[in-house]
Formats: sequence, C-alpha cells, structure tokens
Amino acid sequence: MADYDLIVIGGGSGGLAAAQRAALHGARALVFESGRLGGTCVNVGCVPKKVMWTAAQLAHALEDARDYGFDVSAGGHDWEKLKRSRDSYVEFLNGIYARNLDRNAVELVRSRASLQGPRTAVDANGQTYTAEHILIATGGYPRVPDLPGAELGITSDGFFELEERPDRVAVIGSGYIAVELAGVLRGLGSQVEQFVRYDSVLRDFDPMLSGRLMEELAAQGVDVVTGAVPQRISRRDGLCLETADGRSFEGFDALIWAIGRDASTNNLGLEEAGVFVDDDGYVPVDEYQVTNVANVYAVGDVIGKAQLTPVAIAAGRRLADRVFGGQTDRHLSYELIPTVVFSHPPIGTVGLTETEARERYPQD
Ligand code: FAD
Ligand code: NDP
Repeated sequence: MADYDLIVIGGGSGGLAAAQRAALHGARALVFESGRLGGTCVNVGCVPKKVMWTAAQLAHALEDARDYGFDVSAGGHDWEKLKRSRDSYVEFLNGIYARNLDRNAVELVRSRASLQGPRTAVDANGQTYTAEHILIATGGYPRVPDLPGAELGITSDGFFELEERPDRVAVIGSGYIAVELAGVLRGLGSQVEQFVRYDSVLRDFDPMLSGRLMEELAAQGVDVVTGAVPQRISRRDGLCLETADGRSFEGFDALIWAIGRDASTNNLGLEEAGVFVDDDGYVPVDEYQVTNVANVYAVGDVIGKAQLTPVAIAAGRRLADRVFGGQTDRHLSYELIPTVVFSHPPIGTVGLTETEARERYPQD
C-alpha cells in the first residue's frame, strides 16, 4: 500500500486547497512546500499587492478629500512602515495556513520535491514517499527576458522587497502586474514610466477597458511609452533602457520586469514520471485536471490557463471532490471566469471581449 492517498507538490493556492479538501473526504494527504506556505498569492502576489493597492487608493482618497471640504493632506508617506506592517501581516497568514493544515490533518514536508515515477516523490534529503495520486501545483515565477543587462532590473518579487520607494521607475510590460505596480508606485509618489511594446496596456481586455485605463493612467501622471520593445539595460546616470527603435530612457532608480510568468517545472522529475510538458513549459491537462499520466494531475498557474488564485483553488477543490469525494463529474469550467485588475480605479470584467464575441459569433 502507498504511504499516502495524495501527494501534492506545492503549498500555494491550488495545492493547499486540493490537499485540505482531499483530507476532508478522508484521504491521507501530504504537501511538499519548498518556500513559504501560501505560495505566490499570499507571499508575493495578491495579498501584499492588495495592501499596496489600498495604500495608493488611500493616497488618492486623501487628494480627493480636499474637494469635499476636508482639511487634510497626505503629508508624506512612510514606505518602510508600510512594508513592515505588510510583511508581518503576511507572516501572520503563513501561520494560519500552517495551523489549517494541522487542523485538517494534512501532513506538511517543508522541502523541495521531485518525482521519481508516477507514484513516487523524493524530498531534498533523498527520502521517498509514495501515493496513489499525485498533484502538481508548483505555480510559476516571474519571467526575465534574455537581454543584455536584464539582471539590473527587478521583478514583482523584488518589488515586494524594496525597503524604500524608488523615486523614478521604469515598469516594463502591459499586463496585470505592470498596470498594478505602476499605479501603486505613482499613487505613493514615484515618477513612473510604463513601457509597452504596442499601443496600449491590457491588450487582451475589451478595447473599451484598455482605452479608458490609458486615459486614467495619463490623468494620474503615469507616462505610458508605446512601441517600446526593450533591447538593453545599462547603468549610467541611474538605469538606462534602450529600445529596439533606437530610443534610450535614462535616470531610473528601479526597473521592473512585468512581462509574464513561467511555470515551475524545472527539475521536477516530470520526465521520470512520464508527464508531458508543452513547448512553453506548462503541464497540459484535460478538463478533469488530469495530465497524460492517469494518476498525476495539475492545477493552478503551472497549467498556464487563467493564472488566478480563485481558479487554482476551485480547480484543486473540485479535483479532490471528484477523486476522493465520489463526485464523478466534478470539474472546473474555464469559461466565464471573472477577473479584477487592481488599477486605480479597479477594473472588473467577465466573459468574451467584444472582439472575441464578434469572432465567435460572426453576423451575416
Ligand atoms: P503558487 O501560489 O505559486 O504556489 C506554488 C507553490 O509551489 C509555491 O509556494 C512554491 O514555493 C511551491 N513549489 C514550487 N516547486 C516546488 C517543488 N519542486 N517542491 C515543493 N514546492 C514547490 N491572482 C488573483 O486571483 N488576484 C490577484 O489580485 C492576484 N494578484 C497577483 C499579484 C502578483 C504580483 C502576482 C505575481 C500574482 C497575482 N495573482 C493574483 C496570481 C496568483 O498569485 C496565482 O494565480 C496563484 O498564486 C497560483 O496558485 P498556484 O497554487 O498555482 O501556485
Ligand atoms: P500578463 O500576461 O498579464 O502580461 C504580460 C504582458 O507583457 C504580455 O501580455 C505582453 O503584452 C507583455 N510582454 C510579454 N513579453 C514581453 C517582453 N519581452 N517585453 C515587453 N513586454 C512583454 O503577465 P503579468 O506578468 O502581468 O502577470 C502574470 C499573471 O499573473 C497574469 O496573467 C494574471 O493571470 C496573474 N495576475 C493576476 C492579477 C489579478 O488578478 N489582479 C494581478 C497580477 C497578476 P503585449 O503583448 O501587449 O506587449
């Protein structure tokens, strides 16, 4: 008999949700986590981001308050204090996550793990663990381009480590993270230039939303530089960004890469387990989260679809309901997923964009 019913590699949003739901159904579940419990969302994603977003939102509210007759002004902002409170809140959550695992009788091994076969995982000390079912929930990490000087920049992970607010910042990218971090930094007083390769931010969103956000960013003083394909970073009079069309932008205290995230599938033993990885490094699954190996599943960012916390959680819980709770057809539909971009103001959207709708339902 195997040591466990379920082994989960990755104690983030999807992995913890799946393990705890499996345990509620009576399964013997084990989670491996190599970093901090809670994964990206809790430690370097949604949670600290929303703290920062709230701080920037308060700065906007303080500015607006004067027009409503209040005698207030921001009067400076203590970034270090905000960071300290934010870090201790995250630590507090780490503790809650650990206690939740205990309470639900889910075993935790604080180690990196890899697969040695479709039913066997091994920890960093070489100890092996077997299970009937294995879930890959290893998430991802921020992408850094392969360009000269790219290492001079930071990513969203580095943003959360900043001990002081950089005065002048280059944010590279046009998606969720670029928009959100540009908004936070600008709200808290930095001079922000956001570099996008094409003509707007959030190009995958409804044009009405991205167009309106471009206006809002301009009104807040975020300088969105369009047609800017990064080519080289160097250090001269601060950081300097050169773009493919020969422009150069100098004098930045920080440069933030926000150009997407790659899946954490390296050295995971997927080959040994016979699990297929696609050309982009993601683990493809069917509609029941099953990989090409029948008892190995994947949920969350590592599958490369709808990289959002509630999606990872829902996929993990439904998988556990199906495999251990006898709910034979339970699975997550990836259609109609609502999403919020924490810009200022925030954007909420669900469903097809107008462009997608016109393509899918052409009119005669
Ligand atoms: P993760 O949460 O990344 O967890 C994976 C875990 O696996 C990690 O803890 C990692 O240490 C561990 N791991 C990896 N390899 C191994 C191994 N070999 N052995 C052991 N452990 C391993 N989503 C939202 O819905 N709303 C938001 O507002 C939002 N804001 C975000 C802001 C930022 C800056 C970022 C970066 C992301 C944000 N996201 C947001 C996305 C969200 O964080 C992810 O979609 C979510 O965390 C994915 O969960 P996951 O379980 O797939 O992976
Ligand atoms: P995104 O996929 O949202 O956006 C990255 C964008 O950067 C691309 O769409 C592309 O836009 C641009 N880009 C890609 N490569 C380059 C390059 N080499 N140079 C310059 N620009 C480039 O990724 P993020 O990193 O912003 O976020 C990762 C994921 O995390 C998101 O997709 C989302 O699922 C999740 N997330 C969710 C949040 C939320 O729910 N509020 C918040 C933060 C993250 P273009 O083609 O226009 O150049």
